Amino acid sequence: MQNILFWFRNDLRLHDNEALIQATKAGDVIPVYVFDERHFLDTAFRFKRSGALRVKFLIESVENLRKNLQQIGSDLIVRIGKPEEILAKMALDLNVSAVFASKEVTQEETTIEASLSKKLKPLNIEIELVWMATLYHARDLPFQINFLPDVFTEFRKKVERSAKIRSTFAKPKALPKIDKSIEIGVIPTLKQLGYDSNLKADKRSVLTFEGGETAALYRLDEYVWDDDLLKSYKETRNGLIGADYSSKFSAWLSLGCISPRTIYEEVKKYEKEVTANDSTYWLIFELIWRDYFHFIALKFGTRIFKQSGIRNDLMKPWKRDTVRFEKWINGETGVPFIDANMRELQQTGFMSNRGRQNVASFLTKDLGIDWTWGAAYFESQLIDYDVCSNWGNWNYVAGVGNDPREDRYFNIGRQANMYDSQGEYVKLWLPELAKVPAEKVHFAGLLSREEQKKYEVTLGVDYPNPVIDVKKWLKF
Ligand SMILES: Cc1cc2nc3c(=O)[nH]c(=O)nc-3n(C[C@H](O)[C@H](O)[C@H](O)COP(=O)(O)OP(=O)(O)OC[C@H]3O[C@@H](n4cnc5c(N)ncnc54)[C@H](O)[C@@H]3O)c2cc1C
Repeated sequence: MQNILFWFRNDLRLHDNEALIQATKAGDVIPVYVFDERHFLDTAFRFKRSGALRVKFLIESVENLRKNLQQIGSDLIVRIGKPEEILAKMALDLNVSAVFASKEVTQEETTIEASLSKKLKPLNIEIELVWMATLYHARDLPFQINFLPDVFTEFRKKVERSAKIRSTFAKPKALPKIDKSIEIGVIPTLKQLGYDSNLKADKRSVLTFEGGETAALYRLDEYVWDDDLLKSYKETRNGLIGADYSSKFSAWLSLGCISPRTIYEEVKKYEKEVTANDSTYWLIFELIWRDYFHFIALKFGTRIFKQSGIRNDLMKPWKRDTVRFEKWINGETGVPFIDANMRELQQTGFMSNRGRQNVASFLTKDLGIDWTWGAAYFESQLIDYDVCSNWGNWNYVAGVGNDPREDRYFNIGRQANMYDSQGEYVKLWLPELAKVPAEKVHFAGLLSREEQKKYEVTLGVDYPNPVIDVKKWLKF
């Protein structure tokens, strides 16, 4: 049998891993994961490209993958550095006939693929990249990618009408032992990657996110079956507090610890065995959104990262106000709903979808700050950071993407009163506002001196004055 190098990327799982299955058919698989050193560098801002909470989740996912590989007789070789260089050298040293991996679509990832391919060519080693991150396979789309509809609804209707979702692949039962001569490598700790190792979990986090395929499949089981939450997803999905209001699958999806098709098949099973309703459909609907941003990235390439966005809108003026940007990051804008969400993100690495839409709208439409800054901060901080979903959603909210409504604007005051009517969410993250009554808490910046005294909060001392005139939200 020939040796095959299997390069794990954002597909840190054994189940439904088509590339891995194909690799096993081609030869004896040697699994490798490379921690890409570039992911741990600083940005132009005061945060790293990948924040500590994200990196912790990644380390756990790699640890779990190694364990799962060991259970089927193999192991995971781990390295730190530049994947294209390390893999090319390993391919040569181990005399492999091919490198198998999953296909990515965005700039940095495809540049690495191309660079590796270039290094392997003179060695006569093949690189096989297999499409597997989406629910619908790219080859099954009922149109060429250049004709991807500009509006989500049109995309969804077309795929629902004309494309089939492929079945999942079972996990391999056994893989060959790794030759003793190969140095397996130690999985780095947070500290070794340049992070503070004393990361403390915040008790208020929606969930204890533990990386890895095992935890991902456990969460799927818990959400769908044990806690029976799927059947009411459509009603609860705009929630803000706790594990139950939405699936929280995103973190595991982002590193491929679970595949979207596995979730799809579980939903279908539930529909057959228990009930099919608007909620069960809606979870699939959201996974189609995820697909859409993936295909948008494929179609528009580097444009998703540019200020002018996929619309190529060069006219929009964007401010580069670092002072207000820092206030946004640190949850110090004086707008409680924004500050609560931003503090949750900073302290836990997660924020609800409702929160993300509001804080992104506030940054771009109320403060007028360069949306790419916001997207870069989310990239650093989100445990579920997914390059296509993040940059695609930011394009959308900033008005340079594929939102058919050009004038969409979130009235933050109204959103807060609607989705946090009792003020429980803002008080969870802003304890300084604990005594302010629910009907006033979302406009805390308008409290009179007497009210401040009564509710034991002094604006400008205990809680910041608002950075914008929030009275405009009362007029709607
Ligand atoms: C500005 C902004 C940035 C975002 N950045 C990311 C990101 O980096 N990674 C990420 O996974 N999601 C991102 N989202 C989308 C969405 O907020 C999260 O997917 C969702 O909140 C994750 O929680 P959940 O798994 O409980 O979602 P659920 O509500 O349970 O949805 C199920 C799954 O559907 C998918 N999904 C749901 N909403 C969206 C959406 N709007 N776009 C794409 N996929 C969606 C996710 O995979 C999610 O896990 C972003 C949204 C906004 C507005």
